[in-house]
Amino acid sequence: MSTQKPRLLSGDTPTGRLHLGHWVGSVENRVALQDAYDCYFLIANTHAFTTRMDRPDEIRQSVLDIATDWLAAGIDPKRSTLFIQSEVPVIAELTFFFSMLLSYPRVMRNPTIKDEIRDKGLGENYPFGFLLYPIGQVADILAFRADIVPVGEDQIPHLEMTREVARRFNQLYCGVDSHTEDKDYLTQGGLFPVVDVLLGRTRRLAGIGAPGPDGNLLKMSKSLNNAIFLSDDADAIAKKVKAMYTDPKRLKATDPGTVENNPLWIFHETFNPDKAWVAEAEAKYREGGIGDMECKKRLVEVLVALIEPIQQRRLVFEKDPGQVLEVLREGTAKANTVAGETLRLAKKAMRQDYF
Ligand code: ATP
Ligand code: MG
Repeated sequence: MSTQKPRLLSGDTPTGRLHLGHWVGSVENRVALQDAYDCYFLIANTHAFTTRMDRPDEIRQSVLDIATDWLAAGIDPKRSTLFIQSEVPVIAELTFFFSMLLSYPRVMRNPTIKDEIRDKGLGENYPFGFLLYPIGQVADILAFRADIVPVGEDQIPHLEMTREVARRFNQLYCGVDSHTEDKDYLTQGGLFPVVDVLLGRTRRLAGIGAPGPDGNLLKMSKSLNNAIFLSDDADAIAKKVKAMYTDPKRLKATDPGTVENNPLWIFHETFNPDKAWVAEAEAKYREGGIGDMECKKRLVEVLVALIEPIQQRRLVFEKDPGQVLEVLREGTAKANTVAGETLRLAKKAMRQDYF
């Protein structure tokens, strides 16, 4: 039975469509682990409101888009549970209790929060709820008592908070000794496993645009207009690769070029299966022995080979949004059963089981 398997939870915020960063950071692992784990995939629509509370229609459309992307990418609803965060109220209930287990300075120390405030241009007047979303994410994970969470690098601080909350809850309410090793919390009577993080083969894929003000390339992100999407067709991919940021000091094929911090080569190294070609072409690029156009043409071929089958499958699901919603409806019902049991046990541990 699938319930005997260890549990995996992961998800995406419906702020746009899935891109190559999601693929290498998390989705590729999710697709591959569907048999080994009891998988739960959540669409974090509540969290989309932290930055787009004024655009509910867009969030609604993105929920469908993400689910469609998942199905196209190979997430299989027969094996995995796909669900919508806001429709599992237990997550919101647990968020409140868990927010008592982390101090305010601890939440503010989370470096991903600081990066997001900067990169998304949130300024000083971001909503209070924005600070709450990492704790919401703790609740997403613990509501399912997940053992493992496949994510990109930016999620490590949130996962560390999840581990802290699990330890603290188990110590405070389940009587587990604070010297217990992470792997032993359940056998010592704890309710929540201390989750493991599974990073993708690329922890943080850069976007196709120029570096940010600090000189570093920005993370590929739905919100930063620097993404190649899993739903892009061959023409769109070719256009984006053509316009992609490369070495700005290199004006012609005979100029020596820099490979480091150059999206053209980051993408070849990440996605091109022909490692020998990449090594040889990089050496030529450094010496001014190969043109950008040739390298970009190769990259388009590589990306189209990866994305086109997904994009083609997507066209089929796009035509039947009713089917996609039905998958979410069934998944959400199952998610509510599992999360409901967690809340019952959590309240019992917290001595708030009255009736
Ligand atoms: P937003 O810009 O709205 O925050 P996002 O593009 O960062 O969107 P999320 O939904 O926040 O996407 O992230 C979903 C998952 O994909 C997370 O596990 C995240 O770490 C991973 N991920 C997102 N972008 C990248 C990337 N560029 N490289 C590696 N992993 C990524
Ligand atoms: Mg993000």
